[in-house]
Amino acid sequence: MTRTLAEVAAEAAGCTRCRLAESRTQVVFGVGDPAADLLFIGEAPGLHEDRQGEPFVGAAGQLLTRMLGEIGLRREDVYIANVLRCRPPGNRDPLPDEIEACTPWLVETISIVQPTVIVTLGNFATKFVLETPRGITSMRGCVYPWHGRRVIPTFHPAAILHGGGERSRQFQDLQDDFRLIRATLDAPAAPAAVQLPPARAAAQAPDGTVVVVPDEEQLELF
Ligand code: URA
Repeated sequence: MTRTLAEVAAEAAGCTRCRLAESRTQVVFGVGDPAADLLFIGEAPGLHEDRQGEPFVGAAGQLLTRMLGEIGLRREDVYIANVLRCRPPGNRDPLPDEIEACTPWLVETISIVQPTVIVTLGNFATKFVLETPRGITSMRGCVYPWHGRRVIPTFHPAAILHGGGERSRQFQDLQDDFRLIRATLDAPAAPAAVQLPPARAAAQAPDGTVVVVPDEEQLELF
């Protein structure tokens, strides 16, 4: 029988599957609507998240909350999680065995929430979820079919803040990506508005809304 997200989070709270259990303050499982259409995936909790037990509560989280507001959503309307549920010490990059140990929590989260749209925040989450070596700058701006859902990669809000915030070119791209998220949520589930050949890199859809890059055949994982 499928467990509830609260039941899964309760079990995860005692997780000792990797070394991060020794250094964390607490597991940062996720926050938001357990039946949300839209799921955000970041990299890993930072200092503030580790202390408060909630993802994206620091400066990057405030920017994420603001961007949600710009498309008419509140944090309570979406689900927010990370690839890793525990803070790597000193915010170092996640290690391969930590990612492997934590992935079942993400898989179970997706299978319970059943989001129609997943937004990957930044290079790390995008490469992990879409299994691509390509960086976020070339991946963003498109919608990718993924296991019967749609994935929209965008910049990590912390990268926007680091790169000059509202004055940066990337901030405009972030705003465009959030408009794409809104359009994708509002679009009929299938077929996607535009199908382009796999070789396509960065072309815009003629109608300026949803651009889809086809990928390999979908697997029944979630
Ligand atoms: N950065 C992330 O990737 N996740 C958080 O929860 C906070 C900052």
